[in-house]
Amino acid sequence: AIIIRDVHKAFGDLHVLKGISLEVMPGTVTAILGPSGSGKSTLLRMINQLETRTAGEIYVNGELTGYRQVETSHGPVLQTLDDKAIARQRARIGMVFQRFNLFPHMTALGNVMEAPVHVGGVSKAKAHEEAEVQLDRVGLGDRMDYYPAQLSGGQQQRVAIARALAMHPDIMLFDEPTSALDPELVGEVLGVMRQVAGEGMTMVVVTHEMGFAREVADQIVFMDEGVVVEQGGPKIIDHPATDRFRSFLDTVL
Ligand code: ATP
Ligand code: MG
Repeated sequence: AIIIRDVHKAFGDLHVLKGISLEVMPGTVTAILGPSGSGKSTLLRMINQLETRTAGEIYVNGELTGYRQVETSHGPVLQTLDDKAIARQRARIGMVFQRFNLFPHMTALGNVMEAPVHVGGVSKAKAHEEAEVQLDRVGLGDRMDYYPAQLSGGQQQRVAIARALAMHPDIMLFDEPTSALDPELVGEVLGVMRQVAGEGMTMVVVTHEMGFAREVADQIVFMDEGVVVEQGGPKIIDHPATDRFRSFLDTVL
């Protein structure tokens, strides 16, 4: 599970997240919706500790991220975790971005093997075997030896998903994974995401794909200007309670 409690983020004077609280239950899919600049990516990056927080707490599988509570004679204080402890926490989370960020000089197989070998300490033989399984899983069993430049955007994004899955994360975060794709390639990536969700993965997905959100998400979160404006089951897409959500939906539906 992910528990986010009253999280704030400021970049200098810019208060980007203004008290976000959210719970993501194991095995569920949460879709985060909201206009550009509302803080969606910042929130996602914070879950994966790519961004520090100004205030608030984030727990992943019951563990406070980024800090440890230490008892002192003046009461409990928070100490920043060391890099190794942060890396261990981050290894439980897979992330897929809008841009595919594949290593251009490595094949699909090489890209998927990279983290298990260099971060996970898995042997090359084992990582190779595992990469084949993951590439099969995303429908690229016949493209393992292709370089990113030889793959379509949709195929590259599926390699990126396989690469994240190869680390056996407990949680997958997706930040607008289809918004850089040509329209005809969106479906194959959403299809893989739908399949991964169906296998019981805990997922948080920032997306403008309302069909996917409506059909796959268990929880919808609508953010605007750094706050959660509406939150609930997928039916809130068809029954928005606020003008802000209603006018946002008019722009994307
Ligand atoms: P989009 O839909 O366009 O991706 P978003 O909801 O993901 O938008 P964020 O990327 O989280 O929005 O950005 C929220 C706000 O924080 C924006 O005003 C952005 O300019 C600002 N911001 C994000 N990262 C930084 C940073 N590193 N330094 C300063 N400001 C930042
Ligand atoms: Mg964003």
